Amino acid sequence: MIVNPDYAPTPFPEGAVAISNSEVDAFNTCERKWWFYFGLNKEAKNPGRSLSIGIAGHEILAIYYSALATGSPKDLAEKLAIQRLSEMYVTQEFNPEYLLVAHALLSRYFAIDRLHEFCDILAVEEDFYLPITDKYWYAMRLDLLLKVKKGKELGNIVLMDHKFTYDFKTPAMLKLNPQMPKYVPTIQFSGIPVSQAYLNQFRTRFAGHLIEKKDNLDLFKKDDTDITPTRCQSAIEQQMIVSERIIERKNLDPELQMKESVPVRNDMVCRSCPFQDPCQMMDNGINIRGTMNTMYKKRSYGYLKDDAA
Ligand code: SF4
Repeated sequence: MIVNPDYAPTPFPEGAVAISNSEVDAFNTCERKWWFYFGLNKEAKNPGRSLSIGIAGHEILAIYYSALATGSPKDLAEKLAIQRLSEMYVTQEFNPEYLLVAHALLSRYFAIDRLHEFCDILAVEEDFYLPITDKYWYAMRLDLLLKVKKGKELGNIVLMDHKFTYDFKTPAMLKLNPQMPKYVPTIQFSGIPVSQAYLNQFRTRFAGHLIEKKDNLDLFKKDDTDITPTRCQSAIEQQMIVSERIIERKNLDPELQMKESVPVRNDMVCRSCPFQDPCQMMDNGINIRGTMNTMYKKRSYGYLKDDAA
């Protein structure tokens, strides 16, 4: 949602195809995982803990900050956000245990959050685009675009990305963050002078039923990601290189696309992969069609334009 029309994105061209950071990340992590997500266009019907908390958390925060951005009082913004969370319990969109964690975490966050007192909210959950070629554009979804109204960054425009994370990022991980150095130039391409990018981190490593009993849980942290123009340039160059590999892969016929997308088979990567079952089946020569139809659904999160690829 664009709150202030002066900060609207450059329109996405007719007929163009979007390649997101998530797609590049999936391709770099495991090409077979990428093939499940972006070749077959599938996602798990029942996502795991971290994905569920992340998706639900982002939606709730978007409702909360959209309400604040359009002038609702804080208690109403919180109420609207928690109402949506309650709906999620009823509609069983996510495992209720995961929703319990999101609920506990966000209730505590709302109680301490004062971001809107320090910043004007210019945009919430809005898509921005940057051309890679005439046909392919980099696409990203911004969580919050803010104009600072107090303190040493007075007048600066900054972006903030919510991260639901098992543990807070280390200083090295912040400097290696792959998204923010792409987000900043992409938003700048729309003529918006963003100067810095922050991660708004929510630590999910606690049991939901314990949160009320602990006084000193270290749950929230805002960190800047130390963006520099050179880092942005490197990130965009790398995005272009991997995007070209993806475009090449997408141009193959479906059978070859599947064969060329070799599984990484790495413990760290496979541990959290939602495609473990069909991946094993493929390696054992078992047809995965039934499993893909019953355990997975059409990918819902992302950018409509990349479905055309
Ligand atoms: S289980 Fe591992 S090898 Fe298979 S698709 Fe997932 S990440 Fe790749």
